[in-house]
Amino acid sequence: MSFKLTPLPYPDTALDPAISAETLSFHHGKHHQAYLDKTNAAIKGTDHADASLEDVIAAARGTNQGLFNNAAQSYNHGFYWQSLAADSTSASDELTVMIDAAFGSTDDLKAKLADRGLGHFASGWVWLAEKDGKLSIEETHDGDTLADSDFNPLLVIDLWEHAYYLDHQNKRPAYLDAVINQKLNWAFASDNLARGTTWKYPA
Ligand code: MN
Repeated sequence: MSFKLTPLPYPDTALDPAISAETLSFHHGKHHQAYLDKTNAAIKGTDHADASLEDVIAAARGTNQGLFNNAAQSYNHGFYWQSLAADSTSASDELTVMIDAAFGSTDDLKAKLADRGLGHFASGWVWLAEKDGKLSIEETHDGDTLADSDFNPLLVIDLWEHAYYLDHQNKRPAYLDAVINQKLNWAFASDNLARGTTWKYPA
């Protein structure tokens, strides 16, 4: 199959000023599209041509770094757009209980997400994830992903400079503060937790 650019689930101005329409036009329209184009070109006519994106990622991990990077980045960006929301969202009771158990409170979780995102060296991703009924913060480097891991990813934040440079220049803390405190999609996280299986990139 040919993987398509997932539409933004909000208008491109909806995340401003945390993330501007200009950033989204490049990040969604150019970066995410390029990862998809390279993935589609690499699998065309191969055994992977009809596989799900998650299966492409799993097959390419450790065997085909170029395909892995593009397929994983395709997945991560699709997941990231859903991890953001225009309006304030709420965590389910189930998720809130698990956040309190793992981190103390939602404010403590937000502070730890910001710390881990700030401390992450160079490019990558910081995730809220669930495994065996427990929540944790996970980091993946460069294009790496939790899509084919034992974790059920609930939310992700892109730490690549292209995610924030136009809006916040080199100030990753300003980007993290704005996204974490204003734009995370707790309803999406709650849905992912309730489903109990890893979110699938739309076929
Ligand atoms: Mn990105």
